[in-house]
Amino acid sequence: MTTLLIATRNAHKVGEIRAILGGQFQFLTLNDFPDAPKVIEDADTFAGNATKKAVELARWLAADNSKLKIKNSKPDFVLADDSGLEVDVLGGAPGVHSARFAALDKGENSHDTDNNAKLLRLLKDVPLEKRTARFRCVIALVVVPHEKVESASPVCFADEFEPQIFDGACEGRIQFFASGQGGFGYDPLFVPGGFTQSFAELGEDVKNKLSHRATALAKLKEFFNHQDTKTQRS
Ligand code: IMP
Repeated sequence: MTTLLIATRNAHKVGEIRAILGGQFQFLTLNDFPDAPKVIEDADTFAGNATKKAVELARWLAADNSKLKIKNSKPDFVLADDSGLEVDVLGGAPGVHSARFAALDKGENSHDTDNNAKLLRLLKDVPLEKRTARFRCVIALVVVPHEKVESASPVCFADEFEPQIFDGACEGRIQFFASGQGGFGYDPLFVPGGFTQSFAELGEDVKNKLSHRATALAKLKEFFNHQDTKTQRS
């Protein structure tokens, strides 16, 4: 069975990824690797940050393959998700800064409630028809070599191991107030197209069928299914 190292400590993201991908994979997370380096997410695109997270982590693992002996299962791939919310009337903000929207000057992540309060404040006078927005998710998948890799620069490593990129988007609107207890981040404010309730009210079964993450992960599943078919043929 293929083992994926999900490159996050965000329990909500891990929960969604596991629920969407299902029993086809085994999972590890950064909680299984407490010494893993903290990757600075300073790229200006979701793809750039997802690639950076996946490549840096795979390179760190490959530099000393004793790290791979964890829970009797070696990660075959690093899977990094970078995601966020784009609000049209704000020119696509908060975008790649979604996790630190209320603390942009400090350069550190801010609480979901503070981020949501800032967004509602900025949209205070914006009418419903102009509150269009989307969640975006980009997933980078990088092979973890099970042999030690001596000295590969990040750039060579990225080229050599060719990260696979999968993306997804979910269109909707930002409502005027927060509602619902489920999900995380901006879920209490985001009403997906065709619905009247927020992601936080709709719950995980609905969200995991139509979210930005669900779309990106469906492409990733298709990639693995295609690889399996190729292996069976050869
Ligand atoms: P990342 O961990 O750097 O990818 O930051 C993602 C940030 O975007 C989170 O902290 C949330 O604020 C927001 N975000 C991403 N995906 C979702 C989602 O599915 N629901 C709500 N907020 C999300």
